[in-house]
Amino acid sequence: MNRIGNELNKLVNRSLDRHVRLAVTGLSRAGKTAFITSLINQLMHVSTNPRLPLFSAVREDHLLGVKRVPQLDMHVPKFAYDEGMQSLLSTPPAWPEPTRDVSQTRLALRYKPQKGPLKLLQDTATMYLDIVDYPGEWLLDLPLLDMNYLEWSAQQAKLMKGKRAELADKWMSLGADLDPFEPADEAQIEAIAKSFTDYLYSCKAEAGLHWVQPGRFVLPGELAGAPVLHFFPFVWLQHHNEAELAQADEHSNFGMLKARYKYYQQHVVKAFYREHFSKFDRQIILVDCLQPLNAGPESFNDMRQALDQLMQSFKYGRSSLLRRLFSPRIDKVLFAATKADHVTPEQHPNLVSLLQQMVNEAWQTASFEGIKMDCMSLSSIQATEPGFVSYQGQQMPALRGHTLDDEAQTIYPGEVPRRLPSESYWQSNGFDFVNFRPLTQQSDEPLPHIRMDKALEYLLGDKLQ
Ligand code: GDP
Repeated sequence: MNRIGNELNKLVNRSLDRHVRLAVTGLSRAGKTAFITSLINQLMHVSTNPRLPLFSAVREDHLLGVKRVPQLDMHVPKFAYDEGMQSLLSTPPAWPEPTRDVSQTRLALRYKPQKGPLKLLQDTATMYLDIVDYPGEWLLDLPLLDMNYLEWSAQQAKLMKGKRAELADKWMSLGADLDPFEPADEAQIEAIAKSFTDYLYSCKAEAGLHWVQPGRFVLPGELAGAPVLHFFPFVWLQHHNEAELAQADEHSNFGMLKARYKYYQQHVVKAFYREHFSKFDRQIILVDCLQPLNAGPESFNDMRQALDQLMQSFKYGRSSLLRRLFSPRIDKVLFAATKADHVTPEQHPNLVSLLQQMVNEAWQTASFEGIKMDCMSLSSIQATEPGFVSYQGQQMPALRGHTLDDEAQTIYPGEVPRRLPSESYWQSNGFDFVNFRPLTQQSDEPLPHIRMDKALEYLLGDKLQ
């Protein structure tokens, strides 16, 4: 009888276990890898972690323990936690290798239920937390689903201004020789596509621009080298009649480009939304607001545009593109300004206010049915120590750390603007931060951070009640 009772109990437990899929995204170098490494690390130390006072499940002793368990999606690469920790614990400490593709990890959180049927039926319950990491650049591709190849080409042609036009010179002159109506020349198309891809990389690396499309070209993951990434926008529309182009033979150069674009729409963009995005419960979007402040106005405005675009994926209005594809289930989104330890603590409220302004317009004008949203600033792995220095008889806030070359430095990086920077800000204010290496860590202690506990509370607090 007792054995049956135990079995029954196990069955009830299993059926009542919770499951949360937490998605972590952001443009490249926003800090996704550092965030996930720290999140796993904080949770793994949960029973002795003094660094999580704002996470109610830990503060109130509901969370008993956390362990890593094998993930269920066996075709998705595993998040490289051990490798990341190895880098952080090396001498001198180094940052983990950044994200290039989607990856996943699964944690089992054992906790004491506080409310509802779980509290009545069980002393302890398990919440399975799947953490999915994916490049934010992939979300920039959503609008491609609403444009055919000609429309996309026309939109890209309009973008060729300023720095982009300068950087595009090489691939544009290479592509100008392509006759759209000639039989498809795969080698020529591949060569132009390669030059177009180099251009997209240089937009990011040289010009500090973030809005690059198609997103997979710069973060191809397992698609690197595949023909589906060998196409480019046909931007020489002024030399051709659009109606004729639309009628181009499927075996022509134009036909091949059109077919690859369509394949990309269906098998890359749509597949990501269907296979991954549609299954997320919670989302954190990491934003590095400081890098574009360092880089200048064009980079800053481009980052805003990229964020606007990124937010389209959370626009669940009834007639939205996403609703036509699937019914999304994300109910909470957190925007986090990362690397808060790059600026002195009294600047943190400004950092949050700036991020709020950056996302607010898109948030206000779109219909986000049933999604809660919040903004905060954090540092996943704190690399500096705040303090004060004497300057002309006054105590000034400062940061102390070691540069990537392991040199000790004390700096004051400057003020973060509270509002979107105006013309005069760019002319008068210098903002200059240094990239520090992580602080020396002890393997048995949780990683130092700023407000990771606040993020955990927002993302998981209610699920552990
Ligand atoms: P990803 O491309 O989004 O995965 O970005 P990473 O997590 O690899 O972060 C990119 C770089 O940003 C790291 O190599 C660090 O130099 C820096 N970084 C990330 N998080 C922090 C942080 O909390 N503090 C500081 N000081 N630097 C950070």
